[in-house]
Amino acid sequence: MNFHVLTLFPEMIENGMATSITGRAIEKGAISIEAINIRNFAFNKHQSVDDYPYGGGAGMLMQAEPVYLAWEAAVAGIRERRSHTATGEVHSGAGEIIGEMSPGIVIKEKNQVIAGEMPPCTIYLTPQGKTFSQEQAREFAQSEDLILLCGHYEGIDERVLEEIVTDYVSIGDYVLTGGELAAMVVMDAVSRMVPGVLGNDESAGTESFSAGLLEYPQYSRPQVWHGREVPEVLMSGHHANVDAWRREQSIIRTVQRRPDLLKTADLSNKEWNFVRQLKKQIKEEKNE
Ligand code: SAM
Repeated sequence: MNFHVLTLFPEMIENGMATSITGRAIEKGAISIEAINIRNFAFNKHQSVDDYPYGGGAGMLMQAEPVYLAWEAAVAGIRERRSHTATGEVHSGAGEIIGEMSPGIVIKEKNQVIAGEMPPCTIYLTPQGKTFSQEQAREFAQSEDLILLCGHYEGIDERVLEEIVTDYVSIGDYVLTGGELAAMVVMDAVSRMVPGVLGNDESAGTESFSAGLLEYPQYSRPQVWHGREVPEVLMSGHHANVDAWRREQSIIRTVQRRPDLLKTADLSNKEWNFVRQLKKQIKEEKNE
């Protein structure tokens, strides 16, 4: 997975991603992060990238041209790298060769084929986008390259967005000063889906949101802390009982904290009855 971030603050991206799990993933080569400074594409005397909005109003707007040139540079880099791996063969989804293509057609990892002229997925981080989710992270993780565009000031000239953006993504209903933190949120969540990034391949599959449920509570040593004991079942060594307890706790936690998630949960009839019982109980407690 190769991330290409278009930003006015490349050091923020580089520093933010260089530590802990994402830092190790970069070192191992499981992911790469290229931070492209949009200011390097401002070909005016003061290297300015912003201007007043037509029609008036508060604040400044990032201009179309430097953003477009930075995006073109990212795309050119991607095409250059991919052209080195192109063989002219066309692969089916299953990976077998199904044909030959003229130069300019390149073959993506994971056996997908893309035309040379097809622009890579370009995400604009904006409060006006679709709210980012684990499901979207999973979809983005299928791409070989993701371009992330970070706005600043009052945003970006609409015309360049119309030309280059494929996905509008928000990280929540609040307004940040810039898209950099949002881009890092997206890259972090997507990276965890990339094979080889997490030490334990299992953990991404059993976590919150993976099956429409939140994860169960977890405990580590000591067995008693501040007078609070670790649930006995977790020390029993009885795996089936531990699994059953965790499943039940996941359901309880989801009903209590995020009942909206349950509509995508795959529950047995017995579990749905349990959900109904829990909801009734919560309602009664509220009315007391
Ligand atoms: N004027 C814009 C509006 O009302 O929609 C907000 C601009 S905001 C101050 C500056 C930049 O921060 C945006 O261009 C975007 O890149 C980023 N940003 C702000 N809030 C965000 C959010 N919730 N999710 C993703 N990006 C956000």
